[in-house]
Amino acid sequence: MENQYFTENDEKRLGKIVKTALNVKPSIPSRNSCPAPEVIQALAFNMELDAATVKNVTLHIAECYKCSQLADKYLRQYQNEQKNRSDA
Ligand SMILES: [Zn+2]
Repeated sequence: MENQYFTENDEKRLGKIVKTALNVKPSIPSRNSCPAPEVIQALAFNMELDAATVKNVTLHIAECYKCSQLADKYLRQYQNEQKNRSDA
């Protein structure tokens, strides 16, 4: 399982996407319908997703305020779990 987690660079990349998305005005509607929260969580936790899904969801997060908030939440959860893991 260990090797399925994000590398430091992956985390920085996703963190940057989330930060960019958080600057998007909430009033801007997304062009695509939102993915299921489970998919955003899977992306944040670097679970197995096909490349097309990763790309689509990442692009969606970058332009959807609501989903960027979700991604940020899940990313924090993931980072906390990583922290707990290294403390143990
Ligand atoms: Zn969305």
